[in-house]
Amino acid sequence: MTRRLLLHPEDLAASAALFALGSLQGEQKAIFEQHIAEGCGICGQNLLDLAAVTESLALAAPPAEPSAVLRRKLIERTRPWMSETSNKTSTTTSHRLDL
Ligand SMILES: [Zn+2]
Repeated sequence: MTRRLLLHPEDLAASAALFALGSLQGEQKAIFEQHIAEGCGICGQNLLDLAAVTESLALAAPPAEPSAVLRRKLIERTRPWMSETSNKTSTTTSHRLDL
């Protein structure tokens, strides 16, 4: 092995968190994946714990109402597109929104 090993456990705990969020990149990601592939039980368990956390994070955000300004902007931007598509006879045109 010529790869530089990360310090264990602090660096790998951070790498596991980033990996679980899909934010680990490049060499760090390759090193971490190699480390998991080598069967580290600590990091494997870390990933399982973090996967549960990231799943609940996705559901934790409360539903939000857009502000009046944002709502108006959204309606202004989508109205031309909505009327354009409803006036077209073809249903195979691509749905494109120029922002
Ligand atoms: Zn490990």
